Order: sequence, then structure tokens, then C-alpha cells
Amino acid sequence: MVTALKKKVWDVNRCSGCGMCVSTCAKNVIRFPEDGDQPILEVREKNVGLSHVVVDTCFFCERPCEDSCPRLKEWKSGPVIRMVSAVSKLPDGDVIDALLISALRRELIDGAIIWDVERDSFKPLPKVVTSEDEILKSAGYQHLWCPILKALNDAIYGRGLKKIAVVGPPCVAQAVKTVLSSTNEKLKMYRERIRLTIGLFCDGIYSYQLVTNEIVSRFNIKPYDINAIRVDLRNALLRIIMHDGSEKTIPLPDVRKYVRNGCARCTDFASEWADISVGDVGSENGKTTVIVRTPIGEKCLDYAVRERTLEIVESLVNVEEIQRFVSSKERRKRAQEIDSLLLSMLDALSGVKSKEEIEEMLKSIGRR
Ligand code: SF4
Ligand code: SF4
Repeated sequence: MVTALKKKVWDVNRCSGCGMCVSTCAKNVIRFPEDGDQPILEVREKNVGLSHVVVDTCFFCERPCEDSCPRLKEWKSGPVIRMVSAVSKLPDGDVIDALLISALRRELIDGAIIWDVERDSFKPLPKVVTSEDEILKSAGYQHLWCPILKALNDAIYGRGLKKIAVVGPPCVAQAVKTVLSSTNEKLKMYRERIRLTIGLFCDGIYSYQLVTNEIVSRFNIKPYDINAIRVDLRNALLRIIMHDGSEKTIPLPDVRKYVRNGCARCTDFASEWADISVGDVGSENGKTTVIVRTPIGEKCLDYAVRERTLEIVESLVNVEEIQRFVSSKERRKRAQEIDSLLLSMLDALSGVKSKEEIEEMLKSIGRR
């Protein structure tokens, strides 16, 4: 039994849905259920004599799943090397496409795990890409959840990629960082093969029900009419761009109920543990903020400028605006404190923590 994952992540709704544990599970027994938004541990049974017994599949396992879960770690602020405003110079691609394409051309990476959608249903899915054409044909990130890192094994074992880039929200960058800083032998292959993370600014990701239960019925349209979904944080609007070029909007508070539960426990807005993070906030309309956080991120931006897939613009980045969203998301720490309290109470019930310790915690979060 994966006790830490179950007790500290799944049972308290803290799972970000990144999909890392599904990929790294050594026995292939963690999976996302068809309509669930956090993983489950498959129960396996066997016959012993005349009895039917449940097998503890995790017995003797080195628990790579637990060593790769970002929700079992504490996260502080990440590094910043450089912050710029940029525009893509690709006729049909955004800044992320520009970074990936130049990284491919310069052989910094040999493929990437990026976001796409099934065109008919607008259902999000991970995609392993190895060419410029595949990058440009993908729909990109649509703020709709799927366990993107589930595609890691396909990238490594299926496609044989050796220098993989991963694109995703902060929890995905944190999951990659967790693996890269682990010493678990079972995670060695992932450490060796993941080369770069491009993180997105994120205030929360939406379940697919946003499309089926809200957008489609509110506007009487079909999912295949949708070209893109954008979250405009500055104006607190969800923008739905249609294939005919028209746009529909919904105030963000109206769609809050579709944000994944795990996002309520997430405090990283600006992908502070990615190599390079990207988002609209902080730049003028039509431009994108790019924050370089590691030397490899610096190389990635440099290649994009040299390959002329991206141009750095003169305007300054509005750091205060980014900071406003960073601070607003950091307030979710309170939800984490309440989780810790709940866990302590559960421990106390089994005799691990004393009543005094729990009272101390209650005081520290202002509940007494
Ligand atoms: S946060 Fe990611 S690694 Fe952790 S349990 Fe959820 S899907 Fe698995
Ligand atoms: S808010 Fe964003 S980064 Fe945080 S868990 Fe949700 S999707 Fe992941």
C-alpha cells in the first residue's frame, strides 16, 4: 500500500493530477479511473489454496511513485535569472512553440510532451512530439486538465527519446523537479531523459466538464466549434475563441466550480521550479512574459532569439502585476495548513500526536 500517497495526497484531495506517479509506478498499478480526477491503486487478488486473497502489490517496492509526487514536498520560492517580454516570430505559433522549435533545431531536446485536444470533443490529451510540424499542429494548453505526465513512458520507452522537454503548469514542473532531485534508483531513467521544463503561469486548471456542462450548453454550440480556450486573468474572463474567429466570454467566478480540487492546495502561480516559465501576466497585450530560472532555461531562450523564432521586446515586465497573482495564490497556504491539521488529528487518533500538539497547531493557524 502506498500509505503516504493515499493518506497525505489522495484522501485529502491534494492531488494536482500531474500523472507522474502513474508513469513512475514500478508495478504499473496506479492509474486514473475513467471519470476520476485523482489516481487509484489497483487491487490485485490471487488464489491461495481455496482462499482468495488481496495482494499487497507495493510490498518490497522502492516506492518511486511517492518519491516523484510533488504534493509530498514543501515548496518555497524558486530562482529567477532573467525576466523579459517576448513575441513569437512564427507565423502560426506562440512563444512556447517558438522555444520548443528552436530547442529542437539546436538539438537541446529531441522531443517534447505537450498539450493537444481531440478535435471533435475538445477533450485534452498529452502528445509526444518530435518535429516542428507536430508542435505547430497541436492545439497547445487550453487550461483543461489531463494527467500530462502519463505520456512520459511513451516518450522514453515508446519513442526512445533521450532529451525530453515537458510543458505544463507549475505542478508539472514541480513533479519533474521532484524526480530530478530524488535519489531513488527507479527514477534514474526519468532523471536521465528529461532535459527541459517549460512552465506556465497558472491560477487553476479546469476539468473537462467545463466544456460539456457549461460552455456547450450556455452558448448552444458543439465542442468541435471551439478553437481555443483562454484564461484572461487581468480581466477575470474565460475567453472561448471559435473557429469562425468570433469570441464568447464567461466571467471567471462563474466557472470556478470546474477548477480541480487539488488546485485549492496549490501556491505556485509562476511555475517557479520550471527551467523557463511563460505567461501573459506582466506583459502588454499580445506579448508574453518569459522568466528564465536555470542555465538550461537561459540556453533555451538564447537559441530562440538566435533562431529568430522569438523576439525580445523593449517594454519592461510589470513585476508588480505578476507579484499580485503570486501573492493571491500564496494565500492558499491556509488550505495546506488545514490539511496538516487534519492529518495530525488522524495521527492523534492512532496515538502518534498528542492533544497538546494539535492545540498548538490550531493556535498557529488562528483557529483558537
Ligand atoms: S500529484 Fe501527481 S504524482 Fe502526486 S498523486 Fe497526484 S498525480 Fe500522482
Ligand atoms: S493550480 Fe495549476 S499548478 Fe496548481 S495544481 Fe492546479 S493546475 Fe497544477
